[in-house]
Amino acid sequence: MKKIPVVAGRRGNPLARVFDELVRFCRSRSLFILHYCTGCGAIELPPAMTSRFDMERLGLQPMVSPRQADILLITGYVSIKTLKRVILTYEQMGSPKYVIGICSCTVNGGMYWQSYATAKKLDEYMPVDLYIAGCMPRPEAVITGLRQLMEQIRHGEANRWQDYYRRYDWYLGNQQHLFGDNWQTPTDVIAEAEHYGLIGDQTLGRHTALLQQHQKPLEALEMRLK
Ligand code: SF4
Repeated sequence: MKKIPVVAGRRGNPLARVFDELVRFCRSRSLFILHYCTGCGAIELPPAMTSRFDMERLGLQPMVSPRQADILLITGYVSIKTLKRVILTYEQMGSPKYVIGICSCTVNGGMYWQSYATAKKLDEYMPVDLYIAGCMPRPEAVITGLRQLMEQIRHGEANRWQDYYRRYDWYLGNQQHLFGDNWQTPTDVIAEAEHYGLIGDQTLGRHTALLQQHQKPLEALEMRLK
């Protein structure tokens, strides 16, 4: 089956260019947000979503499942245990996908920079498109950040998701450093990179080799009632 190119570059045919621009415009005006409420910054989302700031008027809507979501919002400090779930959530999202780090804690650990239990720089573990700094940023700042991301998507500039495929070995190395050598998720990032034609020089390396060494086949989840 012929693959549909997800990465729309600037094509030579003027009609194709108009079509690409239309697709990007529509994508930027219908974004589903999955908000992972990791820290105190989450408290600014209800006012951003409800009547006063009403982010839905921009075409932004909360979504409950990563599979349909376009934007992952990380709303504050991320503990090491939580980061595992955040990475798993990110990998389950379909591409193209975007990440926004809200709060100073996602930029450099913020007031938890000395904590043994907190991940300091979110973009060492997954690509982040945009940070909204502040402790905590007000809803106006959240809306401004979202609008900036929409503009980046409209102009075809929000392409950080491709970096996860192109430099997967580096991201995985940082994850292994934090979680241990046998860290794995039930997703296949390398197969996805192949699917999107984004295998780069740094997709595979010693960390992906280590992953393949430890990777176990997926087991079906069981629920037993006593
Ligand atoms: S930046 Fe401040 S408000 Fe945001 S998560 Fe960190 S401590 Fe909480």
